[in-house]
Amino acid sequence: MTPAGRFAPSPSGVLHVGNLRTAILAWLFARSTGRRFLMRVEDLDRARAGAEAEQLRDLAAIGVDWDGGIVRQTDREHLYAAAIDRLTAAGLTYECFCTRREIHEAPSAPHAPQGAYPGTCRNLSDAERASRRAVRPAAVRLRAAATSATVQDVLHGGFTGVVDDFVLRRNDGVTAYNLAVVVDDAAQGIDQVVRGDDLLPSTPRQAYLASLLHIPVPEYAHVPLVVNADGARLAKRDGAVTLADLAAAGVPVEQVRDALLVSLGLPAGPLDRALKVFDPASLPREPWVWPGLGLPGA
Ligand code: GLU
Repeated sequence: MTPAGRFAPSPSGVLHVGNLRTAILAWLFARSTGRRFLMRVEDLDRARAGAEAEQLRDLAAIGVDWDGGIVRQTDREHLYAAAIDRLTAAGLTYECFCTRREIHEAPSAPHAPQGAYPGTCRNLSDAERASRRAVRPAAVRLRAAATSATVQDVLHGGFTGVVDDFVLRRNDGVTAYNLAVVVDDAAQGIDQVVRGDDLLPSTPRQAYLASLLHIPVPEYAHVPLVVNADGARLAKRDGAVTLADLAAAGVPVEQVRDALLVSLGLPAGPLDRALKVFDPASLPREPWVWPGLGLPGA
């Protein structure tokens, strides 16, 4: 299988310019290294009717193309279940009955890193589990033997972050993102993961899980986000931030694409032009402040 990169949007709403900029980067990283580029719709959670089609249309409109068909996570539950079964057979999972509130209020375990699951359900007896099962359905957590892991990132170098007993399947039966992403990337032959750097903190957990599943850890590049004037991650409420909003304000898609490319130090125009000179080493490492309707050429 030719190695691949990917973009993996969650169809929860319209893509904004920050998402589009990340998609352009993922495309450039993959295409500049001879990889295939795959499109995976992460629709296990928060899918909104019509959002997928709109997202794919917007990606195509800025010039991002992909190889093969669309892969949807809701079609792949059997793969996630098989991975959880393998972990369970190896004694690497346990049932968890905690509510969010109970986790929040539990005293944290000694030496546990900030934000780590406190381990409340880790060592329940069979009888305790049976009585809790009668009250509420269980989530499935990983029984982690590590408290941290280090990943290598093209832009960040070595990054060490928390590993805890994170959720693999929620108590409503939905597969958790951290499990699905690891299983899918491996099953699709994806060996390069380019995504927003807000996801860097989850990456050590994913790499650790990959090692337990005997899956190769992909190359990672966590790219800087687009932020609003206050330095916060761009959101719909920040005004005209989608292609549709911008078109309604008189800004054509080519101009949005060009502004995104120029913000990355790349030449404006069709993406093939940027591809010819793309060099990860010269990418900006700082977030880009979205100039709104004051974008270049407007
Ligand atoms: N679906 C995730 C998101 O839209 C991205 C996951 C990933 O790239 O690993 O934020």
